[in-house]
Amino acid sequence: MDVPDPACPDDGVVLDVAATGVCRSDWHAWRGHEVVALPHIPGHELAGTVREVGPAVSRWRVGQRVTVPFVLGCGTCDLCRAGDAQVCPDQEQPGFTMPGSFAEQVALPRADANLVGLPDNLSFVAAAALGCRFATAYRAVVTHGAVRTGQWVAVHGCGGVGLSAVMIAKALGARVVAVDVSAPALGAARELGADAVVEARVGVDVAAPVREVTGGGPHVSLDALGAAEVAAASIRGLRPRGRHVQVGLLHGDDASAAAPMDIVVAREIAVLGSHGMPAADYPAMLELVASGALDASRLVTRRIGLARAGAALTEMDGPTPPGITIVEPSAIIDR
Ligand SMILES: [Zn+2]
Ligand SMILES: [Zn+2]
Repeated sequence: MDVPDPACPDDGVVLDVAATGVCRSDWHAWRGHEVVALPHIPGHELAGTVREVGPAVSRWRVGQRVTVPFVLGCGTCDLCRAGDAQVCPDQEQPGFTMPGSFAEQVALPRADANLVGLPDNLSFVAAAALGCRFATAYRAVVTHGAVRTGQWVAVHGCGGVGLSAVMIAKALGARVVAVDVSAPALGAARELGADAVVEARVGVDVAAPVREVTGGGPHVSLDALGAAEVAAASIRGLRPRGRHVQVGLLHGDDASAAAPMDIVVAREIAVLGSHGMPAADYPAMLELVASGALDASRLVTRRIGLARAGAALTEMDGPTPPGITIVEPSAIIDR
């Protein structure tokens, strides 16, 4: 539908959206798992060109190519100043707390603290693919997982975050076992370098085969899906002193389900939550991407026009093809 052009915030910018990813978090908001004010525009994995700049902005100008983390920190609190804007208590999130990027234009406040400039050789589509799932996976594997060469990493759930994690862990020289219910998703994980795969089935504990294939359990294990059963299986699979990183969002009963704390104590497991990645950490990731060591565009399996974005969301009610779908609002594409 047509809506008025967004107004430029004093401390922000308006972007022409060039590319924006369709993420399961958008689906959660659309389904009502997260509260959003209606009417609402989803979309939080975005890249585009600055078209308007607010009077209080000093770092950005019209015409620059940028992306932004899905969490916009306030830029002034202790956490933001320490480089941890991803957990700012006063955060905004495009597509959740404010209108998002399934649109030709999006307004982004707090531009000086949160915008990230794009290297010239990074396409808008690849940058949008980095936005939430790749950046989240990067932080989960690199910062929280502290993965080192030769270690085993288990990735439970091979959607956008999971496949990103497989690629990043392989780039760090780790060995990877990928777990999913979907054979095509496991095939995609194999293509991105997974050394082993475990096909999950409802009611079957995948911790045992993961421990077997990794010779006693991985050093690091991710729940990249977000379900109580998956988180528990991830923890049960770990070797002593392993790290479980919770990346997938948990809602409803899943959110309050207890982790297997007996195993957490007996094996001294570290349980870490991961919530996106702050703008301050983007340069190191972008350097790896620009160098060619990591190619986020390999995760993009479908590019569609804005008219198809709604359908792409509703398709997430069922199983979706592996990889990331990118919406290009200004492109004339309808496939
Ligand atoms: Zn997302
Ligand atoms: Zn803050």
